[in-house]
Amino acid sequence: MDSFFDKLGDTIVTGGKAVGDKARELSDTTKLQIELKRNEDIVMEEYAKLGKKYYEAHKDEDPAEFATLEAALRQVAHVKQQISDVKGEKICPKCGAANAADAAFCSKCGEKLD
Ligand SMILES: [Zn+2]
Repeated sequence: MDSFFDKLGDTIVTGGKAVGDKARELSDTTKLQIELKRNEDIVMEEYAKLGKKYYEAHKDEDPAEFATLEAALRQVAHVKQQISDVKGEKICPKCGAANAADAAFCSKCGEKLD
C-alpha cells in the first residue's frame, strides 16, 4: 500500500515538474519570439531606409528597376488624393500633407495652396 502512494506521489511530482518545464520552455520561447520579432522589425526598417536612399540616388539611372515602386507611389498619391477629396481636404503639392479645405498655406511646409 505504501509503495502505491509513493509511486502516485512520484508521478504527481514528475508530472508537475514536466508541466513546470513546459511552462518555462513556453515562456522562454515566447520571450525569444518577442526578441526575434523586435529585431526583425529593426532589420525591415533599416532595409526600408537603405532602399529609400538607394532609390533616391539611382532613380534616374534605371527606370525599369523602379517601375513597381513608382507605380505604387503614384497609386499612393492617387488614393491619398481621393481620400482628401472625400474629406474635403487640400493636399500640399510640395510635401503631400493634408490640409483643411479652406487653408491658404500648407500647415506642414508653408507652401501656398490653391
Ligand atoms: Zn506642404
